Amino acid sequence: MNIDIFNTPIEFLKGVGPNRAKLLKDQLKIFTYKDLLYTFPYRYVDRTKFHKISSVDSLLTEVQIIGKITNLKEVGIGRKKRLVASLSDNTGTIDLVWFKINKWLIDTIKINQTYIVFGKLNIYNGIRSIPHPDLEIYKGENLKKKSKLIGIYPSTEILIKRGVTNRTMRNLINELLILINKKIYENLPEYIIKKFKLLDRNSAYICIHNPQSSYDLNQSILRLKFEEIFYLQIRLIKKNLIRKEKIKGYSFKSIGKYFDEFYKSILDFDLTNAQKRVIKEIRKDLGDGAQMNRLLQGDVGSGKTIVAFMSALIAIGNGFQVCIMTPTEILSYQHYNKFNEICKLLNINIKIISGSSKASIKKEIINDLKDGKIDLIIGTHALIYDGVQFNNLGLAIIDEQHKFGVAQRSKLWLKNKFPPHVLIMTATPIPRTLAMSVYGDLDMSIIDELPPGRKYIETFHQTDRDRLKLIRFIKNQIHKGKQAYIVYPLIKESEKLDFKDLLDGYESFSRDFPMPEYHISIVHGKMKNDEKENEMKRFIENKTQILVSTTVIEVGVDVPNATVMVIESAERFGLSQLHQLRGRVGRGSDKSFCFLVTGHKKTKESIMRMETMVSTNDGFIIAEKDLEIRGPGNLMGTQQSGEIPFKITNLIKDNELIIKVRLLVSTILKKDPNLQNKENYIISKNLKNIFDKKEIWEYIS
Ligand code: ADP
Ligand code: MG
Repeated sequence: MNIDIFNTPIEFLKGVGPNRAKLLKDQLKIFTYKDLLYTFPYRYVDRTKFHKISSVDSLLTEVQIIGKITNLKEVGIGRKKRLVASLSDNTGTIDLVWFKINKWLIDTIKINQTYIVFGKLNIYNGIRSIPHPDLEIYKGENLKKKSKLIGIYPSTEILIKRGVTNRTMRNLINELLILINKKIYENLPEYIIKKFKLLDRNSAYICIHNPQSSYDLNQSILRLKFEEIFYLQIRLIKKNLIRKEKIKGYSFKSIGKYFDEFYKSILDFDLTNAQKRVIKEIRKDLGDGAQMNRLLQGDVGSGKTIVAFMSALIAIGNGFQVCIMTPTEILSYQHYNKFNEICKLLNINIKIISGSSKASIKKEIINDLKDGKIDLIIGTHALIYDGVQFNNLGLAIIDEQHKFGVAQRSKLWLKNKFPPHVLIMTATPIPRTLAMSVYGDLDMSIIDELPPGRKYIETFHQTDRDRLKLIRFIKNQIHKGKQAYIVYPLIKESEKLDFKDLLDGYESFSRDFPMPEYHISIVHGKMKNDEKENEMKRFIENKTQILVSTTVIEVGVDVPNATVMVIESAERFGLSQLHQLRGRVGRGSDKSFCFLVTGHKKTKESIMRMETMVSTNDGFIIAEKDLEIRGPGNLMGTQQSGEIPFKITNLIKDNELIIKVRLLVSTILKKDPNLQNKENYIISKNLKNIFDKKEIWEYIS
């Protein structure tokens, strides 16, 4: 096929001159024919229906009427001046109104002419009118043939001002459709089209712009979503296969003595079945000669850390180095403190490196890493600084990965002769279809079980008025030997104000919980590291009963004795953040409580978040809800992982389709991994096109 036609610059299209081309590029990012072709209507107006004027009521938003204009006059003065026409049919009369009057308009509207009128219905004080309607002279043609769904294209104010209206867009697209009709070749194999009863590709592209019926429209949308998901999934799964085939990983022959010893004589609780299953999955990856790229998901408190640590023991037992990268220093120190004792018992050299480590210590660590003297290194971004080199990094573990960008992660890979095995852990679960679409090239392990004895975290939503009760409640818990977190938001835009809130809150809690009976820790981002460490330590050792902090404690902090989480200005947190914060309690065997304190200004969305939090503890459900409320673009994990890879598919609504197509793709690749079978020729040809041409817009070729 002549591929160039799709790459033709948009100015070559009839009706697009240099000026319009610039507008289309600036406003809608339409550079070529295919950009235009792939600019789909975002909605359709149903012009298959006609209304009688007497039946036009508030139940309708858009109306289409055939009637005669019987009167035209300017009414009002000054800025309120408007042009009003009366439209009549045999059932009644309705006003058509223009607030911007121009001579051209007055001249073209003809009294006693019959028009097809289409527009939005406006009802004000009980009076019906249609502002700025579409008018088309009606010449008595057969309406059945004419009527259809009209696509409404994305637009901007500037486009409208410069005369590029929806009608212009439709004309341009129709111009294009004539040029390319029958040139859009099929890219799915016959057997798939048959099996899923899909529309052919050419028809789908024509039809989505000019559907004759809503059935046709749905068919064309389905077809285009199908191929979009299909080619994304085939690329993701293929990428995984190619990586496994091409990139040799270190093969860890045995489970090693450290793992054995730890498991037999140090680990003081039973692993959950889910943890055992996941460790087996990881163990298998580490041993089979290919490089592991695994995403480990689990709800807050499901015990991901121990899984990571035991994986590290396998690597170290095979003579390799391991790094654990965390998003915050607090978390690095927490892991370090937890593992340090065990490492001593096992004779493993563990070190911690952070941005604020002293230069001399850093230097020593860097040297020891290079010489292979350090077995396990824990740290923040500091790990990916250029100076850090490993002797033989066998496994890189990334904790709470949404805080790291893809680019940051890949820097780690380059620090070694061979790419290390990689285990990525998410802080909270990711909705299934999002995970499939954004992390679809990784293998996935899920811990879907909490350690035994965990109790439901009772969650309350309340306002400031209930503060006295809250204080009494916290005191009660403290008298039982328990501890409480009080968390304040810290959001960049109003950092100063937030900081004041935090300090005010600290003062007020200090009054409510006076020394010497009570002790309060405070932790925030402006403190020096050793101060933070020290305050955290006092809390961990139960020397202080209350920890007032910003969200620095959001991820990972583990103090099982804490049973109360108070989140101030909770309306300002996102769902996954709230869930993550709440996950700081309920880590021991005592019943825990979470209080979401909100101010007066609440949006509908924030109320939905509070309701979700109150109604469930399940991170997988919350993740789905979050996706639903906020939309995919805002979710954690997606900002850094690049854009949502879909143009037409909706991650939420097309849930089932995504799952179905991914399953289909896995089955195809299992049977025919290199896509060599004749029936799959068309797929491999299309993929080759995509890779050869490095097309961003890869669905047409
Ligand atoms: P997360 O998955 O949120 O990172 P952690 O790994 O911090 O959770 O684990 C939460 C707490 O549960 C820790 O105190 C940990 O020691 C404990 N824990 C983990 N696995 C088990 C288990 N199988 N039985 C009992 N406690 C466990
Ligand atoms: Mg954790």
